[in-house]
Amino acid sequence: MNQQTNIRSTADYQAMDAAHHWHPFSDMADLNRKGSRVISSAQGVWLTDTDGNRFIDGMSGLWCVNVGYGREEIVEAVARQLRDLPYYNTFFQCTHPAAAEFAEALANVAPPQMNRVFFTNSGSESNDTVFRLARVYWDCLGKPSKKIFIGRKNGYHGSTATATSMGGMAAMHGQSGLPFNGFAHIDQPYWYGEGRPEGLSPEEFGKLRAKQLEAKIDELGEENVCAFIAEPIQGAGGVIIPPESYWPEIQRICNEREILLITDEVICGFGRTGSWWGAETYGVTPDLMPIAKGMTSGYQPMGGVFISDKVAGPVMEKAGEFYHGYTYSGHPAACAAGLASLRILQEEKLVERVRDVLAPRMAKLWAGLADHPLVGETRTRGFLGAIELVKNKETGERFDGDLGVGGMARDLSVGKHGLVMRAVGDTMIASPPYVMTEEELDEMAARARATLDDLADKLTREGRL
Ligand code: PMP
Repeated sequence: MNQQTNIRSTADYQAMDAAHHWHPFSDMADLNRKGSRVISSAQGVWLTDTDGNRFIDGMSGLWCVNVGYGREEIVEAVARQLRDLPYYNTFFQCTHPAAAEFAEALANVAPPQMNRVFFTNSGSESNDTVFRLARVYWDCLGKPSKKIFIGRKNGYHGSTATATSMGGMAAMHGQSGLPFNGFAHIDQPYWYGEGRPEGLSPEEFGKLRAKQLEAKIDELGEENVCAFIAEPIQGAGGVIIPPESYWPEIQRICNEREILLITDEVICGFGRTGSWWGAETYGVTPDLMPIAKGMTSGYQPMGGVFISDKVAGPVMEKAGEFYHGYTYSGHPAACAAGLASLRILQEEKLVERVRDVLAPRMAKLWAGLADHPLVGETRTRGFLGAIELVKNKETGERFDGDLGVGGMARDLSVGKHGLVMRAVGDTMIASPPYVMTEEELDEMAARARATLDDLADKLTREGRL
């Protein structure tokens, strides 16, 4: 228990919070009526709240605490760095040891075509950087008309205005008059969620969805298209795992048409899919890769963009100064946290652990949940999982959206069974820390099943089934 900060009651914190704290992605009136859960400490994969309740963190915070909570190595590295040099900028012909060392360490684990990293403070800022750098690249090649970004419906690339425009979240677009001009979106490769079109296998469907990129480039004119950006596996959209046919077809199109390929590795990077990068898992060769989250395992806010030699070359040769950067680009404490986190991933062979131990076990456990009457489909890839809740298992009929069945499942999971899973509509998703033991993973699946059983009871009692 953290005695320094946790000195008031839960009700005190909730009242302070309700009066003064505006939360991200929250209906504040609703949240303030209910009161926030106050999480005060954590160890390994376990969270504790101010009432002493313990939860298995099936989401690694927000897809970021990959090496688990309570890692003294990271705490020590950050403290040491803050004593030596708490801050210095990397703008005016200066660097510092932590930035140089972290950049080198990152390049050593990056795909072979990537040798440079630009530091940011978040995934959103990484994608703003991608937007500006990709456009400068085409200017340097004498093709300044190549400006349009193609993203995907239901893709997520962050919350700044540019990242929101790149992404395809209809609700976000609706609220702010976005996307800006210069963004286009194709459909997502979401086999289960888009009605499992009759007569099409998932592989045929995946290929068709990828071919939409080709059609969109032709519609807009290749000479006007800058880049295609996509998450290897859509995270916030609902852990949407593309059919195996999807990415090879995207790569073919990007090879044949002259546009940049950008894989947003903010969630998939640093081992989440069982190899270092989602691009590696799907065998594609991106030109730019935004990263964040697992970069420091969430111990410090940080993001970055891996820049391929193909993009770096012309920009370094022709652009002169790239007028872009953040005060905290390469913040020393963030670099120290990143280096320590990377060292843990390497020394404890955690990416291999995801691939060889956790992913196969999760696949088996999630497949085991698929027999539940409320479950239409389960799917996993690496250490990511999804459970599709349906009203009718045979037909795949969904519940009425207004019922909020996903939210009910999440509340039961967290509130009654002590398991943090997230709901995206009626899809339950999970993305646990890589240090989870096999016993803890089994326990997580057991709690997920108990949640489903309780949900079925509740819906039956209410006459919804
Ligand atoms: N890209 C992807 C794929 C993400 O999942 C997220 C965050 N969930 C972002 C970008 C934005 O990152 P941040 O919240 O750090 O700005």
